[in-house]
Amino acid sequence: MTRSLTLLGATGSIGASTLDLVRRDREHWRIEALTAHSSAAELAALAREFGAKIAVVSDEACLPALRDALAGSGIEAAGGRKALCEAALRPVDMTVAAIVGCAGLAPVMAAIERGGTIALANKEALVSAGEVMMQAVAKHGATLLPTDSEHNAIFQCLSGNRLSDVAKITLTASGGPLRTWSTERLAAATPAEAVAHPNWSMGAKISVDSATMMNKGLEYIEAFHLFPVGLDRLGIVVHPQSVIHSMVEFRDRSTLAQLGPSDMRVPIASCLAWPHRMETPLAPLDLAAIGELTFFPPDETRFPATRLAREAILAGGSAPAILNAANEVAVAAFLAGQIGFTRIAAMVEETLQRSNDAPRPATLDEVLAVDQSARRQALTLLETNALV
Ligand code: NAD
Ligand code: MG
Repeated sequence: MTRSLTLLGATGSIGASTLDLVRRDREHWRIEALTAHSSAAELAALAREFGAKIAVVSDEACLPALRDALAGSGIEAAGGRKALCEAALRPVDMTVAAIVGCAGLAPVMAAIERGGTIALANKEALVSAGEVMMQAVAKHGATLLPTDSEHNAIFQCLSGNRLSDVAKITLTASGGPLRTWSTERLAAATPAEAVAHPNWSMGAKISVDSATMMNKGLEYIEAFHLFPVGLDRLGIVVHPQSVIHSMVEFRDRSTLAQLGPSDMRVPIASCLAWPHRMETPLAPLDLAAIGELTFFPPDETRFPATRLAREAILAGGSAPAILNAANEVAVAAFLAGQIGFTRIAAMVEETLQRSNDAPRPATLDEVLAVDQSARRQALTLLETNALV
């Protein structure tokens, strides 16, 4: 049986992992739409390889280059944010949402409004839109398959179980490349040091998020919406080997965990084949070679991001969208050499404090308005050097 697939964010790290699996299972997939932000040549090459029906660059300035690169192929080319949402609205069996940042929210919502099945990697979309997105999922009968490795692990552990039997959900965190650094050393961490993740190979933004632990903060908020067991039943444990991807304890004190190689092709495959299984090209897990699995409590003094995320969940309303927007601005500023590493969390905290009168968003447009205004607030902090 052939299934149709749209991949939002085809040129990124999750995009490449998804296409690697599709490439190995070519006869079972038909590619409808592939999208990228600005890498027109790379996108066109993928569209040609996979015989996509349409390729979309969200940066409209790159559309002429995309058209040139697709000339004679018969593949439709489109550009701009509206075209991105139109591509997400085209009927398919599966949408993989792999755009980075809140920029992926509107196309994800389009796929949800179509009532589709969505493998969601784009955590910032769910963090920003939270209730609005989950209500849309329920209203339109969409299926959200969590692709983030932790949430995919939890989803697998919960299969066949009732949420009402859950005593605790524990997200594991690798702790990132700077896990053992002192606060003084963290203040001087460079972008190259922050993106050098010991276990996972990922895009730049999520790599910095892993180093600050904001990735776990975003995942905390993500889990809060995907698995509504309440904040007091959600925990985080640092597990540097990244072998256990998360776990669920039930009220009988039985704990189920999902283990696997630190490779996103495992959770992506779990979504693509759901509710069945498919082959991946990965080596079997060799626990005897790994030898030791260790666990530590998170240190919220050196890494305040998970505290900020918890506070944002408790504050509710616009707080998670503000936290996410400020973090996106701060990470970009850090990667551009404009602020130090420990200023990222400081900028998020300060932006949250200065935006505490933002209204509770009830629609997609209201979420996007909160996102834009929090970005402006964070940029003001940057421009006035309030935090440097
Ligand atoms: P990446 O930076 O490697 O790729 C991002 C993709 O989004 C690219 O195709 C890019 O062209 C596109 N894009 C970027 N900005 C855009 C914009 N403004 N509008 C439209 N498209 C845009 O990122 P990634 O590491 O693949 O991560 C993608 C998402 O998956 C993120 O939300 C990340 O948190 C999540 N995620 C990634 C991993 C991982 O291992 N890489 C693991 C779990 C979750
Ligand atoms: Mg994750």
